[in-house]
Amino acid sequence: MKIKKLIEDKSISVKIREMAAEINSYFKDSCFTLLSILNGSFIFTSDLARELSKYTLNFDIKFIRLKSYAGKKSTGKIDWIDFENNLKNKNILVVDDIFDSGLTLQELYGKLKKNGNNVKTAVLLIKETERSVNIEPDFYGFKIPDKFVVGYGLDYNEQYRGLPYIGYIPE
Ligand code: IMP
Ligand code: MG
Repeated sequence: MKIKKLIEDKSISVKIREMAAEINSYFKDSCFTLLSILNGSFIFTSDLARELSKYTLNFDIKFIRLKSYAGKKSTGKIDWIDFENNLKNKNILVVDDIFDSGLTLQELYGKLKKNGNNVKTAVLLIKETERSVNIEPDFYGFKIPDKFVVGYGLDYNEQYRGLPYIGYIPE
């Protein structure tokens, strides 16, 4: 399949550097947890963590695994593959690859808030599409058109995650 380039690797690194600065000025000297949603955000999380480390070492990194997509379609239902509900009264930065329907972040946000956590969210991409959720990411990298994108961790049926740039599959 032919992939069209949407965001160059260089622009991604510049943006993540800016996001790290912004996130650091929000958390300042407090400790926080980067809660990374696998699989899609593994590359974004590692690059963001390395940039954040230039400012602060006051964070730990945890992973949870969720799944809501099959092929190019959201199933509308989230599989909580290994969510351990043991984060309580913490500062948490949820890290996800892309904000699409917003259901994933909305549900996770609700669960974490219920446990008394202070929750902020960071995504690399926001898809410009209609949403019916009442949450918006606190930090984001790029707004993109309503296309199915791959690369930099994002997949189409588990393929293309290793591409260093963000691309899309032409219709
Ligand atoms: P949401 O719950 O609809 O906001 O989407 C959550 C998850 O769906 C994201 O974390 C991605 O893993 C996946 N997803 C949504 N849009 C795309 C896309 O364009 N390409 C690849 N994965 C996507
Ligand atoms: Mg994801």
